Amino acid sequence: MTQVDPRGLIQDAVSGGYAVGAFNMHSVETTEALVRAAEQASAPVFLQVGRAIVPHLGLAKAYEMTRRVAEESSADYVIHLDHGPWDEVLEAIRLGFTSVMYDGAHLPFEENIRSTRRIVEIAHDFGIPVEAELGKIPDADQQVDWSSYYTDVAEAERFVAETGVDYLAVSVGIVHGVPLTAPQPLDIERIGQIKAATGIPLVLHGASGLPPDEVRAAMAAGVAKLNADTDLRHAFRAGIEAVWEQGDRQFEEAVAEGRERMIAATVEKMKLYGCAGQAPSARVSA
Ligand SMILES: [Zn+2]
Repeated sequence: MTQVDPRGLIQDAVSGGYAVGAFNMHSVETTEALVRAAEQASAPVFLQVGRAIVPHLGLAKAYEMTRRVAEESSADYVIHLDHGPWDEVLEAIRLGFTSVMYDGAHLPFEENIRSTRRIVEIAHDFGIPVEAELGKIPDADQQVDWSSYYTDVAEAERFVAETGVDYLAVSVGIVHGVPLTAPQPLDIERIGQIKAATGIPLVLHGASGLPPDEVRAAMAAGVAKLNADTDLRHAFRAGIEAVWEQGDRQFEEAVAEGRERMIAATVEKMKLYGCAGQAPSARVSA
């Protein structure tokens, strides 16, 4: 039950040339899968409360469930709000989240700067780092003109300088979800340019389905936090289906198999991201 400082984790990832995995919780079982994987891989983990769970359970219940499960584990964890609007970020800070993402992407650029700067001031007063996103990340298989989606390097430089955000999510060819058609390669060069212009650690959302070579190239170019959800959800689903295909089994039996498969899939991600073996408490006792 070690709640760790997210800035330290990210900074260690930057100096170590790897990325910390950030995964969404959806239920008690999926939260357990994430902390079990972190324990097994001795990896630090961002437990993310994401966009789907808030209308489903409410922010407070999702947070309490995550905290309870994490506290009972021996994992080094951060409880992070993913894609929060203004009110939710403030509520998350009150609830006890130790890392938040404020999503002002729907706002005009100047307004996004102003509101993000204000959120950063508030969050920093509580010692909480803020992630923001610039550029737009389309959903899988949405037809888009990529030139209007990519994060602009000059805008990113100004945004980071004027808002003081701690880490920045970028749009460089990724999508939310896993595309059915072949995804286009990531714009690795742009990641490097944004990293050089802003000087802060970068975040890649939608890391499910990315070829391992691209994940490694993105980390080498400046990505220190990788958000993946879809691949893990698919693993959980496969476990449930495998049990229920055998007939009418108990709910618990099905979700337990989902949890097992999600643990394995999460450990694989942690190895790929290089954060396996990097949990601060594992390093101290090693
Ligand atoms: Zn996202």
